[in-house]
Amino acid sequence: MDPSEVVVAVDLGGTRMKCGLVAADGAVVHRETRPTPREAGGRAVLDALLETVVELWQKATADGHRVRAIGVVVPGIIDADNGTVVAENLAWADLPVRDALVAAVGADVPIVLAHDVRGGGYAELRQGALTGTTNSLFLPLGTGIAAAMVVDGSLVSGDGYAGELGHTRFIHGDAAELCACGQWGCLETVASAAAIARRYAARTGRTVDGAREVLELLAAGDSDAAAVWEEALTVLVDALVLYTTLVAPTRIAIGGGLVGAGETLLQPLRDGVHARLTFQREPEIVAAVLGEEAGCLGAALMAWDRVTADEESGEQPA
Ligand SMILES: [Zn+2]
Repeated sequence: MDPSEVVVAVDLGGTRMKCGLVAADGAVVHRETRPTPREAGGRAVLDALLETVVELWQKATADGHRVRAIGVVVPGIIDADNGTVVAENLAWADLPVRDALVAAVGADVPIVLAHDVRGGGYAELRQGALTGTTNSLFLPLGTGIAAAMVVDGSLVSGDGYAGELGHTRFIHGDAAELCACGQWGCLETVASAAAIARRYAARTGRTVDGAREVLELLAAGDSDAAAVWEEALTVLVDALVLYTTLVAPTRIAIGGGLVGAGETLLQPLRDGVHARLTFQREPEIVAAVLGEEAGCLGAALMAWDRVTADEESGEQPA
């Protein structure tokens, strides 16, 4: 690959877009962050994405780069065949995102549209904590919880529906809380970073500055923080044991804001999973390494994969 060639990569989140120009070896030649105008509605979010892609393309050209492809990762359910997205986070209801991108750039390059967590997982697989694995799991614990599943060497998308481990039920009866998905007692209602802060506030009547403050209270010996943390660990162990039993990963990389807790999170998960497994293959449990850059890098790597595949098949970009 020509080192002056780049892809435009965007990780579109509910509050901000992390975007950049990335060379074929994964080197980020330009990086920026922009706000996502979520409050202005779905159309405004799409317009902001299109403007970002066009401006990054213009910057690449002005800096002497040739743009080979565009990679965009978004939350929600992505129909890869039709290029449409349903994303409550972005106020998108079955929006034809890929067609809009094609119309905006007006050039014949491949456009890859993928799920943000699968994008992050792909980056961890290629260049991060999951390198060298063929069966593994990337599980970011952030505002919500979703998983990127690597099974027999492939990232599983399930037509856009796979990996929603955060919406499996682990809490039953009166203790179950209503989840954003409409169900009760999901993993996400107890073990996401947002849930830990919310549950501590509900339990004590004191508002906290996110899960980070709960972790500080935990370190200071606060018994309510310890109780909330213990409940989160219990359901996370349940989820990891379920995943391990079904899909047999050799390595699990935990990401998202909560992994900032380090061994306070990871060691109890290792101990809990170890105690629960009998015949199953025990996975390594490690911290993801790419942090907030994983989604954008994953979008870029997926876009470069498409360029390579098109070249190998001798086809014109679709
Ligand atoms: Zn749910």
